[in-house]
Formats: sequence, C-alpha cells, structure tokens
Amino acid sequence: MWPRMGVAVGHDAGDVIVVGAGLSGLTAAVDLADAGLQVTVVEARDRVGGRLKTVPLPGTDHDTLDVGGQWVGPGQNRITALLDGLALDRFRTYEDGAHLVDFAGRLRRYRGRIPRISPVVLLDAKRAQSALERAGRRLPADEPWRGRAAEAADAQTFASWLARHTVTPGARRFFRVVTGAVFAAEPEELSALWVQLYVRAAGGLDLLIDTGGGAQQDRIVGGTQQIAQRLADRLGGRVVLRAPVTEVEWTDRDVQVRAGGRLLRAARAIIALPPLLAGRLAYQPGLPTQRAQLTQRMPMGAVIKVMAVYDTPFWRDAGLSGQAASDRLPVSVAFDTSPPSASPGVLLGFLEGRHATDAATLSAADRRELVIGCFTRYFGNRAAQPEHYVEQDWTAERYSGGCYGAFTTPGTLSRFGSALRRPVGSLHWAGTETASRWTGYMDGAIEAGQRAATEVLTALRGTPAAPRPD
Ligand code: FAD
Repeated sequence: MWPRMGVAVGHDAGDVIVVGAGLSGLTAAVDLADAGLQVTVVEARDRVGGRLKTVPLPGTDHDTLDVGGQWVGPGQNRITALLDGLALDRFRTYEDGAHLVDFAGRLRRYRGRIPRISPVVLLDAKRAQSALERAGRRLPADEPWRGRAAEAADAQTFASWLARHTVTPGARRFFRVVTGAVFAAEPEELSALWVQLYVRAAGGLDLLIDTGGGAQQDRIVGGTQQIAQRLADRLGGRVVLRAPVTEVEWTDRDVQVRAGGRLLRAARAIIALPPLLAGRLAYQPGLPTQRAQLTQRMPMGAVIKVMAVYDTPFWRDAGLSGQAASDRLPVSVAFDTSPPSASPGVLLGFLEGRHATDAATLSAADRRELVIGCFTRYFGNRAAQPEHYVEQDWTAERYSGGCYGAFTTPGTLSRFGSALRRPVGSLHWAGTETASRWTGYMDGAIEAGQRAATEVLTALRGTPAAPRPD
C-alpha cells in the first residue's frame, strides 16, 4: 500500500526516482536505464551538473570557464574512463616557470614541488603529513570509523591533531593553507578522522595538492558541465528540471516524492545530494536516528571561486607559472586557468574557509577589489587592470549549501559513520560524500552513483551489475 501525502497518490515515475542531477545522480540514472529500469531524475535547478558549472569565457566566442569543479588527475580512474567514453578531451594545467609563495611575510619564487619556505618548517610539515597518511592507512578498510584509533582521531579537531603532530607555528600555518585548499574549511572545524580518511581516499596528500601528478593536473576542453549534460542527454525526457524535492514518504517496498508541483512514486529512490541537503528533506516516517544525526553533523565547506581575464597571460612572459599560495592573503591559492590557446590569459583564485565567509559579507565591488589586490600582490601591477572579472560564490547556492563538499565534525563518524551509505527502506544514498575513493571529487561522485545503482538493481532484481574495476 502507498503511504499517502495527504490523500494524493503520486504519478507513476517508473522503478526508480533519482533526486539530484549532479554527476552522482546522473551516473546512477544512466546505469539503471542501461540495465532496463524505468528511471526519473528530479533536479531542483534549471540546469544539470550541480557543483559542475561552466560559463562562457567573457570576450571570446567559444571558450569557457569552469566556475565549479574543474580538474582531473592520475588515480581518478572512474572520471577518466567516463571522459574517454564521452570523447571529452583533456589538456594539461599550465605550470611551466616559477611558482610563487607568500609565506611568513615574504614573497618568493620557486620551481618544482617544494615551496621555498624555511627547511625546518618543511621538515616539520613533512613529518606531520607522514603521520596523517600512516594513521589513515591503519584504519580498517570496510568501516574505517570503527576501532580505537578511529575514535581517538574523531575525538579531536584537525587543529588539535596538528598541535600534537607539529612543533613549528610555520607548519601549522602551512596546514591551514592546505586545509583551505582541500576542504574549504579551517582546521578547527574538521574532525581529524575525516581528514585522515579523505587523504586516504585520494591515495595521499601529495595527490590532493599537486598539479602535475596530482588532482589539479588536467582540465576538460569545453568545461566539466558537459559531462553532466551528455549524461542527461542520454536520459532525455527522464530528467525533470526545476523540480526541488521537499517531501519523501517511504516504506520498505516503495517511495513517494514531492518535487515542485509533482507527486511521483516508484519502487526505490536514490537521494544523490550532499548529506546536509539530504537531511533537509521532510521524511515520512522520519529517518532512523543514526542517519538523522549524521546529516546534522556534515556541514559544507565555504568557497568563492574568482577569475580575472587579461588580454594575455602576461605572467608567463615574466617566467611565472601563475601558481601562487599565501598564508595571509585572502586569495590563498591561485592558478593559471587560461584556455588552451592562451588567449586571453586567465588567473584563477580561491577564497576558502574563513576568507570566503568574510568576503561573502562584502559588496561585490569591495570583493572584486580585494581579489584583484591579491592578484596584484602576487603578479605585479599588470594584474591590477583585468578586462573581465568572474566570480561564483558557492556559499550562496541554496542547492549546494556550500562547497567544495561536506566534512564531518568531531565525534560524528565514529558514532554515525555506519549510516553514511546504509540504505533505509526503499531509500539509497549517493553523492560524492558517500564515496570511499576520491571522496569530495568528481571521481567519488561517480563511484557513489555506481554503488547506489548496484544496490537498487540488487534490491529489485537480486542481480547486481557486473563488478567494475577500480
Ligand atoms: P552535486 O553536484 O552537488 O549534485 C547534487 C544535485 O542535487 C545538484 O544538481 C543540486 O542542484 C540538486 N539538488 C539539491 N537539492 C535538491 C532538491 N531538494 N531536490 C532536487 N534536487 C536537488 N571536483 C573535482 O573532481 N575536481 C575539481 O577540480 C573540483 N573543484 C571544485 C571546485 C569548486 C568551486 C566546487 C564547487 C567543487 C569542486 N569539485 C571538484 C567537487 C565536484 O564538483 C563535486 O565533487 C561533484 O560535482 C559532486 O557531484 P554530486 O553529484 O555528488 O553532487
């Protein structure tokens, strides 16, 4: 029997309703459609892609800017296989020449992977990095939040963990920049266990922060939103836009969803949203305590992505790569994000964590001035007069809730981690936050979508799809 939203019985949406047309939901939907199930995807926004958003590059006919997710790198086998399957080409992030580091009050150039800061600080940071990676590797494979080591890590913030595992203030400042760049949050906000797991999910901290050889290595010709658009094209009319889900009534056998003006019903639903947003839906009956508590403890990071467009990438002529990092400037990391033709030149920066929440309170004009001031400090006076300025404030996006992704607060994973992926009746959970590899990244979004689709196939048919290689 159908549970009733009032007395209304929903329109038959087929076998499965997928909530959210981000990369994770679309991956799940395509897998299920390919397996012969009837799928409906409901998306709140007027576009697909969620945290993947591509806009025209101002002043050009056909080039684009990714104002959301942008790079792919080695070890991200799922996204690279998908890109190959969709015939989307990649190109290398520009990184020739010297990088800049503005640390402890001095702006210096360096080449290669090791920033030119005090060797004592570098050694201290390297030791902490090894300890972090070792701790992650030692956690159990299946349910890494279980056990004494997990509980001990989860009992502290990453800031407390750093206080124990570093001796120099410089190393702690270094990790504050890294924490912003990777989590768009401050070390005081995150559980140390989440950091250990996140680093493990990527295969090491260097893979997370490096350009060549790391997660920032390659870009997609034409932008990343095409990935979502091409998956949606395969689903055709089964993707419904402008349909925000607000209510979910579920039993063990079926589910009914209110999405905008529609009432839809199906045998299963995949909720492919960040946990925070999944927790904001009204469930009837309410979700089990573990799941309800978990989603209250997974806030989103805060990031504003900013780009300045110049007639040429003038920094290249000065022997600079366009990459920069600072322990004090609000734009704490910067990259060259020019198109493959290098015309025009584009500098990309990130306001992350406290810098993002502070900058979000400014007027648009003051924020632009702040950002261009940072680019000028890094790259000189020619950076002061961009032809165009583009920004995307993810903290203001209702249907993202912040970015890059979610993290857990202390004491969350060790108590409620088992509810992260576990289905509840006819409800299954996807979204990059539920991935075990490359959590928080496009690659993780695909893993999560594939896993949720397999769960649904097993539940409805008893036959999961053939296992995929990692
Ligand atoms: P989302 O993309 O968040 O999808 C969820 C979908 O659900 C959205 O479309 C949303 O509109 C929809 N939705 C929300 N609420 C409702 C509702 N109530 N009803 C219906 N629909 C709803 N990853 C990388 O791999 N490389 C990078 O370089 C990178 N850089 C990033 C930079 C920025 C600035 C940002 C924001 C993200 C970046 N990421 C990067 C992360 C990457 O974009 C995400 O991991 C990935 O896109 C997440 O996909 P998802 O499907 O799990 O979630």
